[in-house]
Amino acid sequence: MATNLQVQLASRPTGWVEESNFRIVESPVPKPGPGQLLVKNLWLSLDPYMRGRMSDAKSYATPVQIGEVMVGGVVGEVAESNHPKFKPGDNVVGPLGWQLYAASSGDGLAKVDPKLVPLSYYLGVAGMPGATAWVGLLEHCQPKVGETVAVTAASGAVGSVVGQLAKLQGCRAVGIAGGKSKCDYVVKELGFDACVDYKAGNLQDDLKAATPEGIDCYFENVGGELMDAVFRRLNPFSRVALCGLIADYNATDPYGVKMIRSVLVNRVNIRGFIVSDRQDLYMRAVGQLAKLVAQGKIKYRETVAEGLRSAPAAFIGMLKGANFGKQLVKLA
Ligand code: NDP
Repeated sequence: MATNLQVQLASRPTGWVEESNFRIVESPVPKPGPGQLLVKNLWLSLDPYMRGRMSDAKSYATPVQIGEVMVGGVVGEVAESNHPKFKPGDNVVGPLGWQLYAASSGDGLAKVDPKLVPLSYYLGVAGMPGATAWVGLLEHCQPKVGETVAVTAASGAVGSVVGQLAKLQGCRAVGIAGGKSKCDYVVKELGFDACVDYKAGNLQDDLKAATPEGIDCYFENVGGELMDAVFRRLNPFSRVALCGLIADYNATDPYGVKMIRSVLVNRVNIRGFIVSDRQDLYMRAVGQLAKLVAQGKIKYRETVAEGLRSAPAAFIGMLKGANFGKQLVKLA
């Protein structure tokens, strides 16, 4: 008899997330009601936005309540179905949370094709992070041939796609990442023109060398000191897609930004965005990205934690940069 396993929010973190903020609970596998389906979850996505859901500070989304299952995207297989659109054996992607089984009304679920790209990719390059890269770069930054695009967290789920899309647009792509091996991967495997290792201790000079003609488009994933360093290199009329500020997510005293003067004197257009607001572009973005991956034009890397019980530690590791590429948990 199968048992469900869930990771629930046990307490709200102050500062850094700890494993004690989660509770792992066994429960019976739910029975799908009329019009519902039961999904056996195969892959769980771990994403930085989940840190925001653990907090009850005002944000764009409702926080997870204490005792609730942690929110999260999964790819799974339909185990039972009373739903006209889904049948057992279908593969689906959707927000079914940190658990092994979920009963669902079908809302927010989409079928995915394992023949096009591996199933786990629908949580990364051909899923929410890929769509984020696509929307932020192509819709908000609108880079032109020959321009310089810079992106932080460049080896990660979003950043790796940003730089590769920038190259496909005919731009110079410059990544910023933590450590030599991540930077080597960004340049040698992903084909960026340059990568600055912000941990090497020479950030501003290295960034200047990597961006001899300044920066026209900046895709911001991190914030903090990196944002100030990049703001010093922005060109007049440059565009900034403000996607994430992970350096501040666990900070009790957020860094903010000091180089705001650069925005004024360079007449910079900064646009904060949340990918879920762009449902109009989402399916087009993930469809194009899946094809580019299948054609070998976009490369992709994953870090996989084994088993749901490893999710809290893997999540904390991802927030600290321990992941190399998209962070996933293999559930089955
Ligand atoms: P990644 O796969 O890039 O993993 C997070 C990475 O962030 C780490 O590996 C680490 O890379 C980097 N990082 C963490 N802390 C710091 C720090 N203090 N300074 C510099 N780098 C740091 O995550 P994602 O690609 O999934 O997400 C990237 C960003 O995009 C996040 O800020 C996330 O919140 C945001 N996002 C926003 C969305 C939106 O709709 N606006 C949707 C999806 C994601 P390194 O080792 O290189 O430092």
